[in-house]
Amino acid sequence: MISERMQRITPSATLKLNARVQELVAEGHDVVKFGVGEPDYPTPDHIKEKAIEAIHANKTTYTPTNGIPELREAIVRKFAEDNQLDYDPSQVIVSVGAKQCIYNALMALVNEGDEVIVFAPYWVSYPEQIKLAGGVPVVIQTTEETDFKVTPDMLEDAISPKTRALILNSPSNPTGRAYTREELAELGAVMAKHEVWAITDEIYESLVYEGAEHVSLVTAAPEMKSLSIVINGVSKAYAMTGWRIGYAAGPAEVIGAMSKCQGHAPSSTTSISQWAALAALEGPQDPVEEMVQQYNLRRKYMTERLQEIPGFECDAPEGAFYVFPNVSALVGTKIGDREIDSADVLAEILLEESYVAVVPGSGFGAPENIRFSYSTSMEEIEKGLDRLEDLLR
Ligand code: PMP
Ligand code: GLU
Repeated sequence: MISERMQRITPSATLKLNARVQELVAEGHDVVKFGVGEPDYPTPDHIKEKAIEAIHANKTTYTPTNGIPELREAIVRKFAEDNQLDYDPSQVIVSVGAKQCIYNALMALVNEGDEVIVFAPYWVSYPEQIKLAGGVPVVIQTTEETDFKVTPDMLEDAISPKTRALILNSPSNPTGRAYTREELAELGAVMAKHEVWAITDEIYESLVYEGAEHVSLVTAAPEMKSLSIVINGVSKAYAMTGWRIGYAAGPAEVIGAMSKCQGHAPSSTTSISQWAALAALEGPQDPVEEMVQQYNLRRKYMTERLQEIPGFECDAPEGAFYVFPNVSALVGTKIGDREIDSADVLAEILLEESYVAVVPGSGFGAPENIRFSYSTSMEEIEKGLDRLEDLLR
């Protein structure tokens, strides 16, 4: 009954977990949510006000497919100021979240059977979106040994005559690693040499901590500008996940094709949200700084406590809001009379018995790890880690 295309796709591990958490909460359980990665802060007031103004001013009709000109111009200024990248508004598109930008980029670039490289651990949606676009995901597996980073040699080895594109994500969900300028310049040189397109997902740009910096792939490797689609959005930086605004910049021809794809589904993104996103980009940035300061405190606290738990191995992440411990030392041991035969089982026990939600690493192509998001309050982090310790004791 269901198309072969959809049968090849697995549901989003993060969204599936979120649905289970909501069920448990509805049953009355007090669940500590280290699962889905989304800011726990409300959207800043000045952004909400602009959306309300837009409603009252009847800015509630369809917008141009690629987004309202005011927002695209603000995005152009953002790229110039934050990333020293020069784009024209015709090289920018606004979509339903960064997620849809990535999907549109894949639809615009990938032919049936083309290979698209992803770096594991990867964000859950990349391989599935590649398959939806008719491509074949090719995974470069990284581990703690290279700090979860792909080296230029690893990239060279993975490129074949069929390679069309790759997806890069720095700072990374789920590892929290951020590539340095030098590392990106080296990787960019390999991509440019083989004329591989880069879809560079920079949604966690604002969330970097203590000395780590975010550098855009295109800033570090300018020769990649004609071969890159830079993806960003307001979800993470401005606590605006539900507003569904992401944006992309790249060569006008590809952005045009992305716009064509978007024009047939879903037309454009929400008019009201676009006015709110304009306020986010143009308004005061101190709410972002305050949130980043709080995330940093939580990052340190969570990492230190996880490092003290026997069987949990992790370094402090540099960006995003995830800690990604390796728990392979616990595989083969028991909790009560239940055997932990994989990291997935540990995640399941943690949720069903201790009501602590984490995402198993298998969905990210890292079956020995589990992902903890620290985008929740310090009290919740303390409570969740206490429960984890009790469970393992
Ligand atoms: N990329 C990564 C790596 C993410 O973690 C997320 C968060 N869901 C997204 C893209 C999509 O963000 P959004 O669609 O909310 O802009
Ligand atoms: N990016 C978040 C996460 O990985 C949100 C969920 C999603 O969009 O898949 O948890």
